Amino acid sequence: MSNPFSLEGRTAVVTGANTGIGQAVAVALAGAGAKIAAVGRSTMNETMERINDESRFHAIHADLSVTTNLAPVIDEAVEWGGGVDILVNNAGIIRRNAALDFTEDDWDAVLDTNLKSVFFLSQAAARHMKARGGGRIVNIASLLSFQGGIRIASYTASKSGLAGLTRLLACEWAPLGINVNAVAPGYVVTNNTEALRNDPVRYNAILDRIPAGHWAKPEDIAGAVVYLASDAASYVHGVVLPVDGGWLAR
Ligand code: NAD
Repeated sequence: MSNPFSLEGRTAVVTGANTGIGQAVAVALAGAGAKIAAVGRSTMNETMERINDESRFHAIHADLSVTTNLAPVIDEAVEWGGGVDILVNNAGIIRRNAALDFTEDDWDAVLDTNLKSVFFLSQAAARHMKARGGGRIVNIASLLSFQGGIRIASYTASKSGLAGLTRLLACEWAPLGINVNAVAPGYVVTNNTEALRNDPVRYNAILDRIPAGHWAKPEDIAGAVVYLASDAASYVHGVVLPVDGGWLAR
């Protein structure tokens, strides 16, 4: 019997794959058999070393907050991989400040990277996937796709918007054979949460609420992405799947 979780022969584009959740996702997709086009602004050497197979790894250097950079990313991945089967929109940023003091720059920077670039990169990928007969798009959402949070107005707006966008694209593109879904990580030990982890009051308040009793490692998030990218999820469209140690169940 064939393995429905196997990604042998597929090419996956993973944004922000140099560190954190994106790196863990790239390593897990490669472990399931996919070739990885790793996209980001920084060097991808550590991710390439972890995948340990140069023939199945290609780094694409791009600032994803610039819209004109997006279609060329897909073109380069198609040329390298012979096609793109999977897109993981992982790259994201966060800016922290009280809503009363929040600046336009902190609003625009986060919305441009976390939402606008996801839409236009997905559009470029989906135009290609449509011609190819289908594909998978997995967005990295957040608990802030479900909850309000504090001090992160633009991040919450971007991740709540991303949940809606995931559902809209799922509806429009399911008839094209493209599954669009999202994974919503709980609190993960990465650069994104460094400020929270450096604040003992916030860190312990969060920890106390997690039924699993610990923050996530990036690897804890990756399996759900492999699942949504695989044939095992071929009838799954438009879900935002929490991987949060039980946080939202509480
Ligand atoms: P991280 O800061 O370690 O990684 C973010 C990645 O995005 C980096 O690779 C960075 O280079 C890349 N990136 C940011 N802006 C970019 C741009 N303009 N162009 C290209 N690359 C860019 O953080 P992480 O926690 O691994 O975050 C990954 C995703 O997971 C983000 O979308 C984040 O919002 C989401 N997320 C994180 C957590 C958490 O607790 N860490 C929880 C929920 C969701």
